[in-house]
Amino acid sequence: MDNASTTPVDPSVAEVIHNYFIKIFGNASSIHRFGREAREAVENSRQVVAKAIYAEEQEIIFTSGGTEADNLALKGIAFSDKYEGKHIITSVIEHSAILKTAKFLEKQGFEVTYLPVDREGLVSVDDVKTAIRTDTVLISVMHANNEIGTVQPLEEISKLTRANNIMLHTDAVQSIGKLNVDVNKLGIDLLSMSSHKIHGPKGAGALYIRKGTSIEPLLHGGGHEYNLRSGTENVPGIVGFAKAMELATTDLDKKASQMARLRDKIIDNVLERIDGSYLNGHRTKRLPNNANFRFDQINGEALILDLDMNGISASTGSACGSHADEPSHVLLALGLTNNEAEGSLRLTLSTETREDDVDYVLEVLPKSVIKLRALHPNLTEQ
Ligand code: PLP
Repeated sequence: MDNASTTPVDPSVAEVIHNYFIKIFGNASSIHRFGREAREAVENSRQVVAKAIYAEEQEIIFTSGGTEADNLALKGIAFSDKYEGKHIITSVIEHSAILKTAKFLEKQGFEVTYLPVDREGLVSVDDVKTAIRTDTVLISVMHANNEIGTVQPLEEISKLTRANNIMLHTDAVQSIGKLNVDVNKLGIDLLSMSSHKIHGPKGAGALYIRKGTSIEPLLHGGGHEYNLRSGTENVPGIVGFAKAMELATTDLDKKASQMARLRDKIIDNVLERIDGSYLNGHRTKRLPNNANFRFDQINGEALILDLDMNGISASTGSACGSHADEPSHVLLALGLTNNEAEGSLRLTLSTETREDDVDYVLEVLPKSVIKLRALHPNLTEQ
């Protein structure tokens, strides 16, 4: 129930990867047979990843994952376009890979506008319009939020970026393999992806960069990845990521509606059967695999530990957020108080989640909530 944090590698992905560690182990830049085989694997993988998001292969730059893709997008565009303007727009509910990069860019002399969200986690298109300035070079709004699953109106935002000649980046780490991601329909110029959220290996991902976009690399060296990401290619990671991408996007509609059916079963049952429970995020504009609740008189961490003792792995917020003492910045941005944010629980499904798993959660969770409320009757009413 914590698939937004990470997922197990699909056995067929693991099988493919294995080959590229021990048999086809060449450096993709070598010109001998081992190198040529590795190069072919990298380029085939590029094609697969491109096709999955309706892009062209030369528009895919392999990275070490979502964090690096986000960094490359923001810093790369900011440093490339710094003579055209120094203003960037993003939202307050982005992943820390975006927010901390934006803070870094502020220290380098860029100005950043952080758009608020409404109670359901949606960015307002009117707010985007108002925030745009003549010196705005980049807008970065995530496709779907990792904690509450809210899906943002990117198609409408892209009409504004196109009309104003501004680059549009989106972090699609959570939406790939859950929603149909078409860079042309969405009007996206740069898009971040990560392999380990879709049953691929950790430490692999990519940034889509629309043809003709001028961008500065973060890593300088041998000129790999069209001079945009130097460093010997992680061939097993890249091949595994592509295989995972292929699996995740095949029959996506069917898989997404199956996940959405199980998600709705969880949401409907929890709200009906547990008093003082509320859904965080939008009811319909949300990822098919995300359910996020807050409960009156419950400490989210205590609930997670109790669920864990019953064999259910869940989360209070994002994986990194769960280790922090601070309540989630996403939940606070919805207008929740510290207490309300701390009484929240995120359950995230995958294509492998079965009806039995959901039934078990629905058996255990109401009992856990009742037990914890009885143990801590003085936890302040929220
Ligand atoms: N962006 C979002 C929305 C995420 O959920 C994550 C992972 O938690 C990342 C970026 C970072 O991706 P990676 O773990 O591949 O660096």
